[in-house]
Amino acid sequence: MLDRTAKLKTYQTYIDGRWIDATSGKTFETCDPYTGQPWALIPECDKVDVDQAVDAASRAFERGPWPKMTPSARGKIMRRIAQLIEQHAEHLGQVEVRDNGKLISEMVAQTKYMPEWFYYYGGLADKIQGTVVAVDRPNHFNYILREPVGVCAFITPWNSPLMLTTWKLAPALAAGCTVVIKPSEYTSASLLEFVKLVIAESGLPPGVVNVVTGYGALVGEPLVTHPRVAKVAFTGGSTTGARVNELAAKTFKKVSLELGGKSPNIVFDDCIVDDAVSGAVSGIFAATGQTCIAGSRLLLQETIHDRFVEKLVDMAKTAKLGDPALAETQVGPVTTPPQYQKILSYIDIAKSEGAKCVLGGGAAPQEEGGGQYFVKPTIFTGVTNKMRIAQEEVFGPVLSVIKFKDEDEAIEIANDIAYGLGAGVWTQSLKRAHTMAGRIKAGTVWINTYRAVSFLMPFGGYKASGLGRENGVEAIDGYLQSKSVWINNGPGGGNPFIMKTAS
Ligand code: NDP
Repeated sequence: MLDRTAKLKTYQTYIDGRWIDATSGKTFETCDPYTGQPWALIPECDKVDVDQAVDAASRAFERGPWPKMTPSARGKIMRRIAQLIEQHAEHLGQVEVRDNGKLISEMVAQTKYMPEWFYYYGGLADKIQGTVVAVDRPNHFNYILREPVGVCAFITPWNSPLMLTTWKLAPALAAGCTVVIKPSEYTSASLLEFVKLVIAESGLPPGVVNVVTGYGALVGEPLVTHPRVAKVAFTGGSTTGARVNELAAKTFKKVSLELGGKSPNIVFDDCIVDDAVSGAVSGIFAATGQTCIAGSRLLLQETIHDRFVEKLVDMAKTAKLGDPALAETQVGPVTTPPQYQKILSYIDIAKSEGAKCVLGGGAAPQEEGGGQYFVKPTIFTGVTNKMRIAQEEVFGPVLSVIKFKDEDEAIEIANDIAYGLGAGVWTQSLKRAHTMAGRIKAGTVWINTYRAVSFLMPFGGYKASGLGRENGVEAIDGYLQSKSVWINNGPGGGNPFIMKTAS
């Protein structure tokens, strides 16, 4: 149970293994989305703090004990991190709820799952292997080293702050990188608690993990443009992601981007209807629709449309709005005031475009939600894929229902969008399931399930939904670079003015 009566808590940030205030001495308030009231003060860092954090991360990477440590020793520290998360998962989940207003059941499930990333990538740390190459020259012994890229900057959003940090931090530490993390200005507290309870107690050397809290333009941009940052791993909106990519390109950084989505959840008339209804509801109303993989376009085969919509509305209208800290709540508040306004404006856009509102359609009154910033679970039918409500990411509990005739039309609608993060398919036909999985342009396709993620499965987007993949074995490649080593054990010589080639 959250204690909402406590006085404002004041946090410090964490640079080079020390807890410090922002150099400016400034702080900003972080609010509880349920009450709308501030509950903590966060250091307002700026470029000066970013420089200090990157200096610390650079020192730790170049000269600290971290690069000298064996990968097996790194793996042991990562397993310690996993154990510490296990000890503190409940508390960390509660701090997430306080800051982002998502359901306690979801946030604690996430924090309890996070250790798996540190066990998995901790186990991979000493399995990063180079290769010996039988090169096409006599008397040569050539090999390829896999080296950490260096200092990494992480920029994260407010919807699942610790989980999305974990997806970056675990492979980066396994690779031997050092990091500077800038959390969302709306949800910095959980990261600071995580660092205090887990990172600072894990035996990681100072400077390996650093945090700079503050605003995107004042902290995010100096971090992304800092010449000693080698890699930027960003999760957030596509517009911000494009800006980050552009800034990072000037100093040729490696970039990975996990961006927005407008995912199709496609229901065929041969599905198990009750499963698909439940999948459609969880696809859009879980997390108050504030998830990048929200199944916000529900594509219904016309032969099942009316029957399905009826069942869907019946189930969605039972959703219990309320305090996200209570186990029985099913839909919590919207996390930020600007996001709340954005969702309401999209509901107006859908209405003005001629979509038919069959559920919800506006703000939930205080007595329904019990707190601030509640939006009624909303369903629009009669949506065509050209409408803005079908094309633009709302990031809220607003579902657009679109009809289709057959597989070809479903694919055409599903892929006719700038995004490509996720997609759901509901069918009992094995042939159709595989065909659809192959034809949908998205980083993840769920068949007869939705919104499942795992440390074992790569996650990321096609098209405007991002660059690179997190999770799974390949995620570690994003934090490594190859070095080719040539050793000539034979005679030297030859014409020094021409490049040495096989011929
Ligand atoms: P934003 O893009 O607004 O912000 C993301 C992060 O970028 C925040 O830390 C933000 O700081 C920072 N930022 C803002 N401007 C800049 C800048 N100019 N330079 C560097 N950093 C900057 O996203 P939201 O926080 O609103 O999160 C919602 C978005 O995230 C949605 O579009 C959602 O789809 C996407 N998302 C994608 C996921 C994926 O894995 N594909 C997962 C979760 C969310 P500040 O908070 O101070 O503005």
